[in-house]
Amino acid sequence: MRLIENFIDGKNFSGSSNKLGKIFNPATGEQSSQVKLANKQDVDKAVESSKKAFISWSNTPPIQRARIMFKFKELIEKNSDELTKIIVSEHGKVYEDAKGSLIRGLEVVEFACGIPQMLKGEFTENVGSNVDSWSIRQPLGVCAGITPFNFPAMVPMWMFPMAIACGNTFILKPSEKDPSCSMRLAELMKEAGLPDGVFNIVNGDKEAVDALINHKDVVAMSFVGSTPIAKYIYESCAKNEKRVQALGGAKNHCVVMPDCDLDQAVNGLMGAAYGSAGERCMAQSVAVAVGNIGDKLVNDLAKKVEALKVGPGMDKKSEMGPLVTKDHLNKVKSYVDIGEREGARLVVDGRNLKLQGYENGYFIGGTLFDKVTKKMRIYKEEIFGPVLSVVRAKDFDEALQLVNDHEFGNGVSIFTRDGDSGRTFSSKAKIGMVGINIPIPVPMAFHSFGGWKRSLFGDQHMHGPEGVRFYTKLKTITSRWPSGLRSDPEFVMPTMK
Ligand code: NAD
Repeated sequence: MRLIENFIDGKNFSGSSNKLGKIFNPATGEQSSQVKLANKQDVDKAVESSKKAFISWSNTPPIQRARIMFKFKELIEKNSDELTKIIVSEHGKVYEDAKGSLIRGLEVVEFACGIPQMLKGEFTENVGSNVDSWSIRQPLGVCAGITPFNFPAMVPMWMFPMAIACGNTFILKPSEKDPSCSMRLAELMKEAGLPDGVFNIVNGDKEAVDALINHKDVVAMSFVGSTPIAKYIYESCAKNEKRVQALGGAKNHCVVMPDCDLDQAVNGLMGAAYGSAGERCMAQSVAVAVGNIGDKLVNDLAKKVEALKVGPGMDKKSEMGPLVTKDHLNKVKSYVDIGEREGARLVVDGRNLKLQGYENGYFIGGTLFDKVTKKMRIYKEEIFGPVLSVVRAKDFDEALQLVNDHEFGNGVSIFTRDGDSGRTFSSKAKIGMVGINIPIPVPMAFHSFGGWKRSLFGDQHMHGPEGVRFYTKLKTITSRWPSGLRSDPEFVMPTMK
């Protein structure tokens, strides 16, 4: 059976840990490989390598760092079919969706190609007489990233291209459920000309994560995953005096106004709720039907949910693949049980789906609940599966209140033809990413990605301008070159004359 190890100093590193994790093909339920789960010594080795590499990498001119990113971009494009198939084989999502997620990661690499422009800094001549002042952004040192299973290419690529282009070295700890894509990306970075040690990967679980958190030479941590772990990462990194951004879970609402183009809203909701089997942090899991549109919305949705084509990710006809693991499948099914017990109306039940030839795969059909209320667990908690809950709201204000009262604040959207509703909603929603007639408002790489409330702990969003700020620290220099003129000691607060 294939064994996935670590990637340190430009090569595979087996390490001293004996712990192994299992990786499955979600479409068949068969184990495809095993992964070494690093211990503290293995993590120490990665940090030592990254620390050493930082000395010359941080002094490498930004244009040379950018050239490696250009080459890396070319290599991703050349190998996109292989990378996409790796994602499908370990995550399960359908091929075209997996390819789309790879491209969204590639766009961050494209942004990182322009890093010299982002690192230019600011200069003021004569802040005082014959005194100049300028600000520069310098890299931090050894940065680390912990990533979730649901985007095995895109989420790591929100982090490492930005950190590395800014002059840092980077240690990635990908999800132990689907680490192969990250391993291949590290090989491609090396092929692009990246010096050994600038990008290292340790595979592992909590033990490896804790070793990174507790290592004094890791200066910054980026995390994406569920909210309880995000909070733990945020608190422990802050305690250890590290810079930290920790993105958590979500429960994204889609507000459907009575004046909207209903076909557009229904199609938007179908893709956003059931695409990637609902395993997206920007998936829409709550539709808020405003006014009298509820019955029509539920009827139209039900027909489409029943017609969803569920199948293995490599089948071109599949619109939705399996869930990632058997445990996760059981968790999602148990939420459907909970919803029934709580009294929501189960309009479409995906629990009993069976696929011929894939009986052991982790499949569940699209599921639709109506008459969900804000007190129910299926409304409050993140299910992370293809389960859409419809909540009824009497008017716009009640819908907005629901959105703002929810503990999560990742994404939201509104479908309406009324400019006033759209504008007021985007202004008043306490949510990080808002769509108006756009079901999944994921910002492009040259903007930044991040939620509010318990969907993000920390200050900076990921990639784009916020990514540059996160992975650099600001220094401001003030200088005078006296030409013969000597000043006397000054004992009062200096002001510029
Ligand atoms: P997870 O929190 O279980 O795992 C994320 C990472 O944390 C993994 O690398 C895992 O090994 C590590 N980890 C798990 N338990 C840990 C522990 N006790 N201590 C230290 N590290 C630990 O998340 P997941 O199931 O892989 O991913 C799904 C979650 O990620 C969902 O909640 C989803 O909303 C969220 N997510 C959020 C965003 C976002 O941008 N906000 C994007 C993608 C996914």
